[in-house]
Amino acid sequence: LFVTFEGGEGAGKSTQMRLLADSLSARGYDVLTTREPGGSIGAEAVRHVLLSGAAEPFGVRMEAILFAAARSDHVEEVIRPALEQGRIVLCDRFMDSSRVYQGVTGNLEPGFVETLERVAVNGVIPDRTIIFDLPAEVGLERARRRSSENPDRFEKEQLETHEKRREAFLDIAEADPERCRVVDATHPPEAIAAEVLRLVEALLPG
Ligand code: C5P
Repeated sequence: LFVTFEGGEGAGKSTQMRLLADSLSARGYDVLTTREPGGSIGAEAVRHVLLSGAAEPFGVRMEAILFAAARSDHVEEVIRPALEQGRIVLCDRFMDSSRVYQGVTGNLEPGFVETLERVAVNGVIPDRTIIFDLPAEVGLERARRRSSENPDRFEKEQLETHEKRREAFLDIAEADPERCRVVDATHPPEAIAAEVLRLVEALLPG
């Protein structure tokens, strides 16, 4: 079972992923938690380049290809082997983040983004994607307060960009209702945790 957590910054997806991992482990499931960009040795090296500021001079195509390279390594080295062992894999961001960040707000043409996605995921598609939905101004404020990797990057991003991303995630959910579920990230964390558990429960093996 492969579950991905998507949404804008500050939506609480990482916290909720940990809470779900704890609930599932408590029920005896073998759970692997991972994240993007990163999650494998090669992909973490690419993450460092992408998020440290070193990527600032890069064009959006180069950035998109690097995200895809990282995803490919992560899929082949970590996610696919874990799924083949019957483990539950929970991943903080995956292909939908590329559709939104590189595709929509990066203004890349859809064909380019789709090709990279197909190559990178190589058949490993999430069984369930939980999209954490939050008004852009709330997420932006939360993200600014706790950003450590590069605090300046959020200052440069316009509210409008965050709104666009929010809409793009909701569009993905609408286009793929089998795979995607939207969660209201303004709700209290305990209520969200219960909702998230409910959204994967029907898919649990055994
Ligand atoms: O929010 P999170 O802690 O997952 O932060 C990862 C950052 O990487 C995001 O703020 C986002 O700007 C960036 N990112 C991106 N494209 C992706 C995935 C992440 O720009 N495909």
